[in-house]
Amino acid sequence: MSGTSASLVPPVPSYGPYREDCPWCGSRRLRARRRGDGPRQGAPHRSPVERCSDCRHVFRNPPLTPGPPEHPLVRAGVRIGHVLAARAMVRRCPEPESWLDVGTGDADFPRAARAYFPYTSFDGLDPTPRVLRARVVERVEEAFVGRLTDHHVVARVRERYDVVSLFQYLERVPDPRAELRAALGALRPGGHLLVDVADPRRVLPGHPVGLSAELVAQGCTLLTGDRGRRVIARKGASAA
Ligand SMILES: [Zn+2]
Repeated sequence: MSGTSASLVPPVPSYGPYREDCPWCGSRRLRARRRGDGPRQGAPHRSPVERCSDCRHVFRNPPLTPGPPEHPLVRAGVRIGHVLAARAMVRRCPEPESWLDVGTGDADFPRAARAYFPYTSFDGLDPTPRVLRARVVERVEEAFVGRLTDHHVVARVRERYDVVSLFQYLERVPDPRAELRAALGALRPGGHLLVDVADPRRVLPGHPVGLSAELVAQGCTLLTGDRGRRVIARKGASAA
């Protein structure tokens, strides 16, 4: 480690409690797929990966808990991901009027995306009050504190947005399938969903019960491949 300053060591991520059931289908038939990668460069102290024997969903257990990626290297990577995602979306949906960023934190994504979408109204949702600060500094126009599946949120966002984005959100919630359906519920018919995952293996199992298959089952059209870290889908005219 000589030559590496302490400030460049990524922070130890915080994990929630170990869960006994599959976050995707609720089955309790979980099997360890492989050990965590260990204290490797950029990936210290990973929790083990487990696989559901029923739906083949693969996820880290215990799961990551929500929190800001504080480390400069992590934040730089997140910023690059935001720019790439905005560029990917502008090709498919160049002029959305309204956009909800889910799990927005300090609204770093709306801030980055504004360069590509100067006329779009961005709203933000986050489980923490950070999103309220983001509204004060005008990074978002409307702020929701909570989860997409919370009743007070569902009623206010129903079929309201041209785009809904979820950055590394599904892998941090206890019921990703319900959150995904709620995200579709917040889209207008024909609206676009953007899902970005840090590690596709966490929520994108190579199996029909994965994220992409769920989107198709909900009447969406996939506009990207189903194995990458970013999925863009268009909601059908009569989808959920
Ligand atoms: Zn399962």
